Amino acid sequence: MTSTLVVGAGSAGCVVAARLSADPAHAVLVLEAGPVWASAALIPGPLLDPGHLPVGPESAVVWRYPGNLVRGKLIGGSGAINGSYFVRPPAADFAAWSAVVASPMWSYEAVLPFFAALETDRDFGTAPGHGAHGPVPVERTADPAPVSREFADACAASGFAEIADLNGYVGPGRTDGFGRVPLAVARGRRAGPALTHLYPALARPNLTVTGGTTVTRLLLRGSRVVGVEWSRGRGRGTTFADRVIVCAGAVESAALLIRSGIGPEPLLRSLGIPVVLPAPVGAWCTDHPEIGVEYPGPEPVRSTVALEYALELDDLELRPYTPMFTPGLRRLGVALMTPDTPGRLTLASADPTVPARIDQGYLRAEHDRARLRAGVRTAAELLRLPLGEIDDAWLRAHLGTSQHLSGTCRMGPADDRRAVVDPAGRVHGIDGLTIADLSVLPVPIRRGPQATVLLLAAVIAERHAV
Ligand SMILES: Cc1cc2nc3c(=O)[nH]c(=O)nc-3n(C[C@H](O)[C@H](O)[C@H](O)COP(=O)(O)OP(=O)(O)OC[C@H]3O[C@@H](n4cnc5c(N)ncnc54)[C@H](O)[C@@H]3O)c2cc1C
Repeated sequence: MTSTLVVGAGSAGCVVAARLSADPAHAVLVLEAGPVWASAALIPGPLLDPGHLPVGPESAVVWRYPGNLVRGKLIGGSGAINGSYFVRPPAADFAAWSAVVASPMWSYEAVLPFFAALETDRDFGTAPGHGAHGPVPVERTADPAPVSREFADACAASGFAEIADLNGYVGPGRTDGFGRVPLAVARGRRAGPALTHLYPALARPNLTVTGGTTVTRLLLRGSRVVGVEWSRGRGRGTTFADRVIVCAGAVESAALLIRSGIGPEPLLRSLGIPVVLPAPVGAWCTDHPEIGVEYPGPEPVRSTVALEYALELDDLELRPYTPMFTPGLRRLGVALMTPDTPGRLTLASADPTVPARIDQGYLRAEHDRARLRAGVRTAAELLRLPLGEIDDAWLRAHLGTSQHLSGTCRMGPADDRRAVVDPAGRVHGIDGLTIADLSVLPVPIRRGPQATVLLLAAVIAERHAV
């Protein structure tokens, strides 16, 4: 029996564990740092409310990093606490991805059947390129909140096209238009990857999911991974496996590799970590910087998902949020989806309890600032807001993050000096070690990453099924 150890029961980990354990001859053990409830019925109700993002200072289910970055720390990972927006990137992003990794595996044509198999789209399930039998329920709001409706009316009045299906095929060229956001929700509940993938598989005798267990280091014998070291409360332990699939997310997957001696040589030496394999881990990453345009408005009358409509303007996404983040003020987010400046992840310490350092590189390129200024001007026109001059200081004062960090263990061919994993997620130079989460993304994508990370995990798991 082949044994696979999956690090992290987050968005990707849930998909990988469910797919691999479908084969009874394959033993799958998942180690998750956060809580794992024995059944879906035991998940605390507030975690299932898609109108509530449990990331405030009181939250016990997040990892926190400098710069206001958070990630989910529970079964389902960030997918269990996110905004439920479930949108596919346009075909052009897969063309760029496929070209960078020199493999047809990631072309739009190759990934489309995986997207379709993932979903039960209640609005477009029988349309070409869609699915009506997959695990993820997808729907668009039928009864938008006033703030969403007003935004849609303003977009239409300004001449923007309405796109009925934001998950439909978007060909090469501009992708402009506004529409209802496809959401991973069912019967008013957040349908995160734990509910859609892992819990339905949990009764399998060959699948074990253990919570409260942080993998601190990969165990390597020469250039082969043979298991992991972990900590659980005050306890420490070691688990061996035939292979390890790391799904700890864009921050913690990179941090785990670096702690294990796979990373930039100068960084490893400065941290006192013995070098196993020099690799560009953390040397590049990407995210979606977001400018918050605030304006006065009435309190919401009911709780709805955070985002019901979006306006796509090529590399910009405008987001009229339904909740109030500041009392009395509504917020329209202007996000830059393909920033020019990359970010960088490093560690300050080899101690796994010390959070990683992430420099997102936001607003460093004049091109990025110019695009965001253009987006803010469009937002001001739509809202009829007299914003005055939008200079760099104004942008900085209103800057936030979309929480979409990706690419710290970038995918690419073996001769690409920027690449950590190959197109199937296998770490170059280390046998038995794969990464299947958002850290392998090799290019910025023009939509939020949740649909993409499930796709990534499904494609990589298919390659690793025995
Ligand atoms: C607040 C918030 C809102 C968001 N909203 C949206 C949205 O609406 N739409 C969208 O498209 N995207 C959204 N995103 C982004 C999206 O949710 C994430 O990018 C995506 O879920 C990441 O998936 P992943 O599998 O790479 O990592 P994660 O889902 O973060 O999973 C990583 C898992 O690994 C575990 N782990 C980490 N380190 C270890 C370790 N050493 N040992 C054991 N376990 C470990 C973690 O606890 C976690 O469960 C949001 C993100 C956040 C934080």
